[in-house]
Amino acid sequence: MKPTTEKFKEKSSSTLHDLKIQENLSGLYSGFYKARLDVSSATDNWEQMQDQARLIKEHTLDNLHHYLEMLESKVVENGGNVYFADTAADAGSYVLDLAKSRGVKTVVKSKSMLSEEMSLNQRLEDEGIEPVETDLGEYIVQLAEETPYHIIAPAIHKSSGEVAELFSEKIGTDSGLDIEDLTEVARKQLRQKFIEADMGITGGNFLVADTGTLTLVTNEGNGRMCTSLPKIHVAVVGMEKVIPSMADLGLFLRLLIRSATGQWMSSYVTTTSGPKKEGDIDGPEEFHLVVVDNGRSDILANPELREALYCLRCGACLNACPVYRKVGGHSYGWVYPGPIGAVVTPMLTGLSKGKDLPFASSLCGACKEACPVKIDIPRMLLYMRSELSEGKDYPEEISVGIIDRALHRIGGYVLANAKLSAAIHGIGSKFAKVFFRNRLPLPPSWSKHRELPNLPDQTFTQLWGKYRSEGE
Ligand code: SF4
Repeated sequence: MKPTTEKFKEKSSSTLHDLKIQENLSGLYSGFYKARLDVSSATDNWEQMQDQARLIKEHTLDNLHHYLEMLESKVVENGGNVYFADTAADAGSYVLDLAKSRGVKTVVKSKSMLSEEMSLNQRLEDEGIEPVETDLGEYIVQLAEETPYHIIAPAIHKSSGEVAELFSEKIGTDSGLDIEDLTEVARKQLRQKFIEADMGITGGNFLVADTGTLTLVTNEGNGRMCTSLPKIHVAVVGMEKVIPSMADLGLFLRLLIRSATGQWMSSYVTTTSGPKKEGDIDGPEEFHLVVVDNGRSDILANPELREALYCLRCGACLNACPVYRKVGGHSYGWVYPGPIGAVVTPMLTGLSKGKDLPFASSLCGACKEACPVKIDIPRMLLYMRSELSEGKDYPEEISVGIIDRALHRIGGYVLANAKLSAAIHGIGSKFAKVFFRNRLPLPPSWSKHRELPNLPDQTFTQLWGKYRSEGE
C-alpha cells in the first residue's frame, strides 16, 4: 500500500465535512469504547494483567533473537517452513513464488494488516491470482476497492445502506437488503471461494515460541477456514508478535479481546502448529510462516520508540482518540491509523513525509489510558515532534522544510528564554487587544470551531512574582 501520509490535512478536512462518515464513526464511542470500559472494569486485576503483559513484551523484545530462533526450530520440528523477510517486498515475493510454483489460482485471506503493508492483493492480482478477503469487513472494503478504515472494524465508515448499494452494484443483489441478508449473501459467496481456494493466507495475533504455535482471533470463523481448508497455509506475521510461552497466551488473549471489542472472549480462537499430521482428518498439507521485519528492527533499535512494538493491534486507542473519531482511518494515509498509527507509520514510511501525524493528537492521554499494555503514545508523539523540529528524518534521509525548521528553532529559543518570552507575550497581548478584540489571532482552521478565552493582562510569571512578594 502506497503511503499518502502527506495528505493528512486535506483528507481529514474532507472527512470532517462528510456527515455520513461522521455519523458512522460516532458508533465507535457508544460501541467498542463503552464495551471495553465495562468489561475491563469487571475483570479482576485488570491493571496487574496490563503490567504483567507489558513486562513480558519488554522481556521478549529484549531477547527477540532468542525467541525467534526458538519459534523457528519449533515450527520446523512441527513440519512447517519459516522464512524471515527483511522487507515487505521480500515477504511478498516469497508468497508469490510459492503460489506460482504450486499453480495456485485462488487465495482466501483472513484479515492481516501486514498483508496491506506488503500490497499483497495487488501483487497477487498482477500475477493472475485471485485474492479473496474473507473477513466480512475486509470483504466489503475489497469490493469497494478501498483500504481498511480501522484495525479491527475495516468497514466501520460504511452504513448498512451503503453496503447494500455496494453489494447490489458488485454482486447484483437487491439494494434494500438488511444486515442479516447481506451477511447471508457474503457467507454464500465466500463458502464457494473457501472450497475453490488452493492457498489460505492469514496474519497472526500471536506466535508462541515454545510450541511454534500461530494464534488467530476472529469472530466469524473465517481464520479457521483459511487455515484448515486449503492445501497450503501461509501466515505473514510481524516479528514483534512473538510471545515466549503457551503459558502467556491466556493473558494476552484476555487483554486483546476485551480491549478490542469488549467481549469476554471472541467467538473463535484458533491455534495451529504446522501442517496436518498423519491421522489428522483436516488441515493443510503445507504450512509456511513468513516472519517480517520491514522496518521493525529500526523501531526496536530506538529506545524512545521501541515500546510501539508492544502493540497488540486491538484498536482501543483508535476508539478512545477524539481525533481518530473525527478524522477517520483513511486520513492517516497508510495501513495503521489512529494514535498508534501516528507513531508507527512515520517510522516505517518516512518521518518527514508523515510529519503531520505526530501532531494529529491533542495529547489528552486517552490512548495511553485505553491501551492494554500501557503504551505511552503521547510521550512518543512528543518525542517525534522534537525530532521533526530538529530536522531529523528516518528511515530515509528526506529533509524537513526549511521554514518548518526555522519556526521550530525560533519557538524553542523564545520558550527557553523567560524574559524574551514574557516580553513577546506583553507585546502580543497589547497587539491582540487593539487589533483582535483581545483574542489570539488563530488560523481559520482553529478559530472556526473553537474560541479561546481572552488574553489575561498579566502572565503567569508576573502573577507568581506578585503573589510571592505579597506573601513575603
Ligand atoms: S497501541 Fe495499545 S490500544 Fe492501540 S492498538 Fe496497540 S495495543 Fe491497542
